[in-house]
Amino acid sequence: MTYAAGRHFLQIPGPTNVPDSVLRAMAAPTIDHRGPEFQAMGRELLRDIRPVFGTTNPVVIYPATGTGAWEAALVNTLNPGDAVLTFETGHFATLWQEMAGRLGLEVHFVPGDWRHGADPAIVEERLAADTGHRIKAVCVVHNETSTGVTSRIPEIRAAIDAAGHPALLLVDTISSLGSIDYRHDEWGVDVTVAGSQKGLMLPPGMSFNAISDKALAASRTATLPRVFWDWGPMLAANERGFFTYTPNTNLMYGLREALRLLYDEGLENVFARHARHAEATRAAVRGWGLEVLCLDEREHSGALTAVLVPADVDADKVRAVILDRFDMSLGAGLGKLAGKVFRIGHLGSFNDLTLAGTLAGVQMGLTLAGVKIDPGGLDAALERLQAG
Ligand SMILES: *Cc1c(COP(=O)(O)O)cnc(C)c1O
Repeated sequence: MTYAAGRHFLQIPGPTNVPDSVLRAMAAPTIDHRGPEFQAMGRELLRDIRPVFGTTNPVVIYPATGTGAWEAALVNTLNPGDAVLTFETGHFATLWQEMAGRLGLEVHFVPGDWRHGADPAIVEERLAADTGHRIKAVCVVHNETSTGVTSRIPEIRAAIDAAGHPALLLVDTISSLGSIDYRHDEWGVDVTVAGSQKGLMLPPGMSFNAISDKALAASRTATLPRVFWDWGPMLAANERGFFTYTPNTNLMYGLREALRLLYDEGLENVFARHARHAEATRAAVRGWGLEVLCLDEREHSGALTAVLVPADVDADKVRAVILDRFDMSLGAGLGKLAGKVFRIGHLGSFNDLTLAGTLAGVQMGLTLAGVKIDPGGLDAALERLQAG
């Protein structure tokens, strides 16, 4: 590969572009993770991480990707044979329920069409029918990164309450935290699962569990085997700013800077920026005469847009043209959407002109790949951006 001038456009829905100041923050010597300098940083981070989750409760930080934090949420709160209610919103929800099955849980997987979020009416119906309270947890992916559909968590919480059911609510926010409005405490979520490499604008390798009092109580009696993921010793060490094993110190330097950026912009502004970029992207897609995968106006993702290509087009070929000609990476169709969609990531460190450049590259790439589109799509997006 010859040298490519300028910046690569990493417009996949995670890992996302890491801001320069975050990269610089990480380029510092790794320090003694049992020493006083680390302890001060540990205390600070374990406190400052909470607002981005919308919680005042503890957040556990793992040196692992999001998949690890999925496992942690399950093994800390559940017992072998417990039933869990899950929803087929897309690829990630499918993987999470597979994990639950492999851990020895009894999975009730509600089928879906990968174009809608988890349905609160079905949550209520299934829980109301579970009079013996065998279902111990409802697992929902907030932002389904494979489809660009965002489930309505407050409505799901309300459905659990309407059924008068004691199940825990476990939510995957791996691609929504720091990009789409989310409130762990206010929405009554019991475990929030998150990762570093999407809305938090960090490299991969760090993940999180935000924990409600109810989830913490469940963890005291839960019997699924757990060692690395065990909240108990970790929370005890965290009280003093320390960790039970070696944390990823340099990612923590980066996290400190990423949180500073998010809080400096203001979380409300961060969410509004993402929603606006998502709107402009949908304006482009519709202007091109293509279809957005998400079918419910209430569930459009602020973090990414999945675009359906015409049936005779291979979406991976379009992506390959765009990578080759314009040095831009777009997200592939995952699982049963392979070849049928491409995904435009518009989350993280991102502004109007990055989006304009991204959409210009997509429009040119579609045309070069021989897809019949209306070139008015880009103008429609620019108009939306210009409107502020
Ligand atoms: C990326 C992602 C995952 C997987 O996280 P890893 O960090 O790759 O382990 C799970 N769920 C969602 C919604 C994601 O976007």
